[in-house]
Parts: sequence; C-alpha cells; structure tokens
Amino acid sequence: MILTDSLNRPLRDLRISVTDRCNFRCVYCMPKEIFGSDYPFLPRAQILTFEEIARLARIFVRHGVRKIRLTGGEPLVRRDLHLLVAMLADLPDLDLTLTTNGSLLARQAQLLRNAGLKRVTVSLDSLDDGVFKAMNDVDFPVEKVLEGMDTAARVGLGPIKVNMVVKRGVNESSILPMAHFFRKKGYILRFIEYMDVGHTNGWRMDDVVSANEIIRMIDAEIPLEPIEPNYRGEVAGRWRYKDGSGEIGVVASVTQPFCRDCNRARLSAEGDLYTCLFAVTGYNLRNLIRGGATDEEISQAVVSVWNKRSDRYSELRSENTTSLPKVEMWHIGG
Ligand code: SAM
Ligand code: SF4
Ligand code: SF4
Repeated sequence: MILTDSLNRPLRDLRISVTDRCNFRCVYCMPKEIFGSDYPFLPRAQILTFEEIARLARIFVRHGVRKIRLTGGEPLVRRDLHLLVAMLADLPDLDLTLTTNGSLLARQAQLLRNAGLKRVTVSLDSLDDGVFKAMNDVDFPVEKVLEGMDTAARVGLGPIKVNMVVKRGVNESSILPMAHFFRKKGYILRFIEYMDVGHTNGWRMDDVVSANEIIRMIDAEIPLEPIEPNYRGEVAGRWRYKDGSGEIGVVASVTQPFCRDCNRARLSAEGDLYTCLFAVTGYNLRNLIRGGATDEEISQAVVSVWNKRSDRYSELRSENTTSLPKVEMWHIGG
C-alpha cells in the first residue's frame, strides 16, 4: 500500500543529514557570527550511527522511498562516509545520491563510487574567487571545488549537478559566467532561489533573485525552452538550451512554491524525522531505536507521522510566516 499524507502526497524522497557540522560558513546557511568556534554542535553519541541510519533507510524504502540524498552539514566531513554508502547501495530500486560543497570530493570520489554511489550534486555559487570566498566565508578557492567535480565525473559519478544559490547584490553577476562554463562542461547547473530557512541568515524578500529573472537573463544570451519534469514532484524546473547544448534547472521555492507535489521527508543527524524543510519540530526516531523498538514499531511511527502530514509552508509564506521560528537548513539538510 502506498503511504500518503493528509493531502494525498506519497513519500518518495528522503534526505538524510549525516552530520550537523561543516567546514564552510556560507553566509546564507551558517553565518560565522553565530556558528563560531564555541558553537555547540552535537556530541558524537547523539548522532545516528551508520547502522542506525541504514536500518531506518530500509524501513523508509519499504514505505515507498525511491530516492535518498545524503546531505548535512557537509556530508563528507563525516568520517568514513563511504561505509554508509556501501550499506545503502544494496537497497532495492533506490536512487542514491549526495550533496556536497565539493571541498573534500577529489579525495573521496573514487571511494564513494566504489562503495556504490551513483552520482553527486556539488554546490558552487560563483566562478569568481572573490565572490565565492565571500560566500563560503572560509577563504575556500573555486579551483578546488572544480577539481572535486572533475574527479567525480572522471570516476563515473556523473552527470554532475551543480547547485548555485543566488543572492541579490552578492552573486547575480556570476549567473551568466556559470551558465556558459557548465554548458561547455556538460554539467547540469541548477539555480536555487535564496530561501528563508532558519532564522540566522537575516533573509529578506528583496535578496531573492527570482527563477523567472534568472531564466530571462540567460535566455537573452543563450536561448532556452522549458522541458517536462522527469517525474511528478521534481524540485527543479527544467529548461534546455535551444541549440541542444544541455539543460539547466531552477528551484523556485520562494516565488513558485511546489508544496502540492512535495514528497520529501528529512532525517536529521540526531534522528529526528521532519516532514517539511520549514518544520519547527521533528519526530524523534532515535529514542525509538535506542529504546529497543522493533522494525514494525518504527514503521508504525513513520506511517503515523506521514499520514498526519499537512505541511505547505512555501505556499503559505507571508510576511507573518517568514518571522516564525524554523529549523535550520544545515540541521536537517537541504
Ligand atoms: N554542505 C552541502 C552543500 O553545501 O552542498 C550539503 C548541505 S547544504 C544545506 C544543501 C544545499 O542547500 C546546498 O546546495 C546549499 O547551497 C543550499 N542552501 C543552503 N542554505 C540555503 C538558503 N538559505 N537558500 C537556498 N539554498 C540554500
Ligand atoms: Fe556548509 Fe552546505 Fe551550509 Fe554551506 S550550504 S554552510 S557548505 S552546509
Ligand atoms: Fe515541501 Fe515544506 Fe518545501 Fe512545501 S515548504 S515544498 S511542504 S519542504
């Protein structure tokens, strides 16, 4: 039986945050002023072990999950992540992927591929070193991220997808250079509208460059046409270059909310299940596991949480909702 929520949406996609830590301090995600050296990240004992994650993943797959994305924080700072990948790679009918800032990818790509990872998404907000360093705020150079992408492509983790968050007045000027560069490389570039996740990034609607604006900007230089989604509920709207030279995506979560088809659940590093990126509270699965619950009992908890789900934050977003408390993106994964 297909598991559906109160708005008849199935559960298809699970994003698993494997750590709340990160080696970047992107200004729109983990601003340095808040995530300083004394920030209380989760102690190791509170983070799910690989065995616990794999057990939960098996249960989710039984309930219809067909895609798992490993994320974070920065997933590649979690030691021996390839061991988790190997555990998940055996699950049937599953699209297993990972989102990373790319900083540690060159070193780990081959291990991850050997463990059974199929593809990766790498985040990069600009090709301009000055702009990129100002955004990651740890002085990390563009070159090293590109090296990570190229190594991943070489070992068979392609087609590489690239995520670019666009923030007005910060990296708009990088949109066209990024489009040209990744079109030539054959990587799929996806532009993400800057979102009001959490309450530490000082989000303002004025900072959002809309997907329409981005498409217009690129189309004026390299003509584009829309294409059908790969499947219902796909997050990125797809566009292709009319000359056949590739495709791009736009994630318009602010200006064109897609809650209607949202089939995503999120598991935080400490084992809380969230049914929306903007949820305030999660359902603690770790206590169930560590309390000795059977697979059947955990299954029932998942079913009951999903059956009750009615989230559609982005569709309801307003001046009021933007100031409500929310969980942080680095905490439950993007
Ligand atoms: N550390 C990894 C990375 O950066 O790719 C994975 C976790 S990160 C939270 C996942 C994605 O969320 C990244 O592509 C990141 O750019 C995006 N993201 C983070 N904060 C965002 C925000 N405020 N608005 C839109 N996207 C955001
Ligand atoms: Fe780290 Fe990713 Fe957040 Fe940047 S977007 S701070 S790389 S978790
Ligand atoms: Fe899904 Fe929540 Fe985002 Fe809407 S706001 S698309 S329900 S995660």
